[in-house]
Amino acid sequence: MERKLTCIICPLGCELTVQVEDKKVLDIKGNTCPRGKVYAESECINPQRTITSTVRCNDGGLVAVKTDKPIPKDKMTECMAVINKAVATLPVSIGDVIVEDVFGSNIVATQNRK
Ligand code: SF4
Repeated sequence: MERKLTCIICPLGCELTVQVEDKKVLDIKGNTCPRGKVYAESECINPQRTITSTVRCNDGGLVAVKTDKPIPKDKMTECMAVINKAVATLPVSIGDVIVEDVFGSNIVATQNRK
């Protein structure tokens, strides 16, 4: 099976053509650098995403958060359900873990809140 992808690793956005059979990458064309090959293999075999969102705080406001590592793309909905149920206790500093071990990633604050 042939898949067409746009590499999202840098702003050049190379158009990649990937031959995939039985979850194995047989050939990659269109990448200008080796990072495109790594991206195409990951995207075809085990696609992952970093999630950015907000978590409710105990004062009723919000704090910006993200996963500290990419998680499997097919777990994004379940991860968002965890994020939506979480409540951060203020004060919160950048890098504080708000929720531990969500599909192998921690949900961490990306802003300071008092
Ligand atoms: S293949 Fe390399 S040069 Fe092309 S978009 Fe990806 S990272 Fe950038």
